[in-house]
Amino acid sequence: MTARIFGIETEFGVNATFRGTSRLSPEEVARHLFRKVVAWGRSSNVFLVNGSRLYLDVGSHPEYATAECTDLLDLVAHDKAGELIVQDLADDAEARLAEEGFDATIYVLKNNVDSRGNSYGSHENYLIARTPRLERVTDTLVPFLVTRQLMTGAGRLHVVGERATYLVSQRADHMWEGLSSATTRSRPIINTRDEPHADPGRYRRLHVIVGDSTMSQTTTLMRMGTTDLVLRVLEAGTRVPDLALANPVQAIRDVSRDQTGRLSIPLASGRTITALGMQHTLLDLAARHAQGAGLADVSPHREVLELWERTLQAVETGDLSLVDTEIEWVMKKKLLDGYAAKHGLAPHDERLQQLDLAWHDVHPTRGLMPILQRSGAARTLVDEQRVRRAMEEPPATRAKLRGDFVRAAQEHRRDFSVDWVHLKLNDEAQRTVVCKDPFASVDQRVEELLAHIRAGR
Ligand code: ATP
Ligand code: MG
Ligand code: MG
Repeated sequence: MTARIFGIETEFGVNATFRGTSRLSPEEVARHLFRKVVAWGRSSNVFLVNGSRLYLDVGSHPEYATAECTDLLDLVAHDKAGELIVQDLADDAEARLAEEGFDATIYVLKNNVDSRGNSYGSHENYLIARTPRLERVTDTLVPFLVTRQLMTGAGRLHVVGERATYLVSQRADHMWEGLSSATTRSRPIINTRDEPHADPGRYRRLHVIVGDSTMSQTTTLMRMGTTDLVLRVLEAGTRVPDLALANPVQAIRDVSRDQTGRLSIPLASGRTITALGMQHTLLDLAARHAQGAGLADVSPHREVLELWERTLQAVETGDLSLVDTEIEWVMKKKLLDGYAAKHGLAPHDERLQQLDLAWHDVHPTRGLMPILQRSGAARTLVDEQRVRRAMEEPPATRAKLRGDFVRAAQEHRRDFSVDWVHLKLNDEAQRTVVCKDPFASVDQRVEELLAHIRAGR
């Protein structure tokens, strides 16, 4: 495939404190957050003018699913825009609670594990060709995903009693199966539910649910960009060595505990490999493919390949300073190590755990990422203006049609419903447009529908 559709879904953790004590359950906090959404869209499951979906499933994790993007920097901007949109809900909920006499602080966390050990995810969506067969893709993709945490992990200070372990990945300990079509009860690495939101004869939507949510823009780019390149290798029919793991679930936990990348991982074939060895093999294949396809010097592939190589070098040499403004688990480790040294703290100190949480706080002044960005400790790819624009403007894909429709229907107070594929005026049965092509940002039928709405008919 020359172009690909990408989307990221993020489940946020929420909690509230009242003058320091917590009195609302996360479910109640989430309900307060969605009062603004329900007022706007009469539902807790809405599509916004930027083409994204914002919803609250059963439970307590608000979810933001970005619009379909083809440009990975657009995707980074839309993922960041989601943080601001959910933070806006928190600000609104705090204001409403204050009017009702409750002095509450609401925290929105873009992490993957709460204090009770529940895990929630960040799902990556990739449009892939219907052929090759899915097994051919997943045979290589699962081992890739298990070891890519060296580039894509968000890091986690895991404390049990007085034992503190720094994990490369937030999600790794919560993965229970390699592949599955089930969703919430088990936690598969790749979800095989076949729901392409596109022509099912041509495409699949690959649904990767093993990734950590990432605050760092460069790490988000690496999650999507390295996976895209590996998919390109497989889609091109390139012969790849057999990397199938003997036990993916054990391997992902082991890799998360091994900052050297040198631990020996058993393969199904009976051989062994290290995480570094696996990633070098795949990086070589990706680089060679990119070279052949004329992508090696094209942004963002060039940057992805360069940072991929540099990260492996950093792990290999133990000189993590090579990537300590770009790769999230390394950035966070540097912060925690520096703070512990400065204040003489034990590795399990409560203050370090608080710092780990503040890392994921999406609040613009309380959260750490904006501070790190300003000081140069966190490299950015898109500026704040572009992120703010992404809160309002859809990317130039099918999302543009959806966003324009939502905006027009809202402005003219029409009763409408929307999903990834359909645009519908509820009071006019014939007025449903089916948008099967996720790449198409222009559509005559939608133009007519918009003209119809604007004419007030
Ligand atoms: P749920 O979370 O309720 O189980 P889901 O995971 O199937 O549903 P959504 O939360 O609705 O899906 O998010 C879908 C994601 O897939 C969005 O980020 C969207 O941009 C992306 N997407 C939509 N169409 C395509 C497509 N054809 N190919 C790849 N990604 C797509
Ligand atoms: Mg979802
Ligand atoms: Mg999902």
